[in-house]
Amino acid sequence: MIRINNLNKYYNKGKKSEQCALNDVNLEFGNTGLVCILGESGSGKTTLLNAIGGLDDFSGGSIEINGTEVTGYSPKLTDAIRNEHFGYIFQNYYILKDYTVGYNVKLALNRYDLTEEEKNERVDYILDMLGILKYKKKVVSKLSGGQQQRVSIARALVKAPNIILADEPTGNLDEENTLKTMMILKNISKECLVIVVTHEKRIAKFFADRIIQVSDGKIVSDKVNNATAYERSDDSNIYLKEYEQEIIDDKYAEFKLYHKKDDIPEKIRLNF
Ligand code: ADP
Ligand code: MG
Repeated sequence: MIRINNLNKYYNKGKKSEQCALNDVNLEFGNTGLVCILGESGSGKTTLLNAIGGLDDFSGGSIEINGTEVTGYSPKLTDAIRNEHFGYIFQNYYILKDYTVGYNVKLALNRYDLTEEEKNERVDYILDMLGILKYKKKVVSKLSGGQQQRVSIARALVKAPNIILADEPTGNLDEENTLKTMMILKNISKECLVIVVTHEKRIAKFFADRIIQVSDGKIVSDKVNNATAYERSDDSNIYLKEYEQEIIDDKYAEFKLYHKKDDIPEKIRLNF
């Protein structure tokens, strides 16, 4: 449970270039669900997420995380809270590209009082869950963008945090991997709170349980969202959420037919 009270943040306070990036923000988050913070570039999304996650200080107000109140800048306290509660996923992954997948993920368990064996078990479990166990011994730089982002998700999850903070996690990904990444986050959000910052309305509309819109450092709307079908931005097929898929794959052509579970579609005849 996170409670944010009258949160303010100024950059360059007292200087000519002073900028109010968060303006009296009040919010509450429960223990599970996928919440999207949606807003245009420069609206204050990253500033808000970093304040929540203790990655940056703030100028006024308070943030309560599972009963512990944080005010302004108190690095020791926020460090402890950070380690205990948060997993972070960033747009630029922030993983060590010259090291292996396994090394990167295990690093997140450094401060934990676990045996090597326990650490390895947890790393394997999470890599397997994300479908990247086979890349464990590979150097990260040899993987695709989507795979690298999954490594960063694995690193965030291996600590079993109860809050995941993701800043534009799909910002560098193509449609296929955007979808995969968001599906993973959606699944995790059944067990823990996932806060995703994005400037993409369609991502919020399709995946979020709740959408908080930010503009000029202020919350301008905060609504429950009923997820709708996700429209891909590329010219590939539309991703149809809960439909059954039939595939006819031949040497010269591939057809995919989507239908509702209980609707048996009529036979379609195509002549090319
Ligand atoms: P978003 O993530 O929504 O794009 P940010 O939270 O990064 O927005 O930025 C909000 C506002 O604060 C912007 O106007 C930005 O220029 C300003 N800002 C962000 N970081 C800094 C900084 N380190 N120093 C000064 N101004 C900043
Ligand atoms: Mg940002």
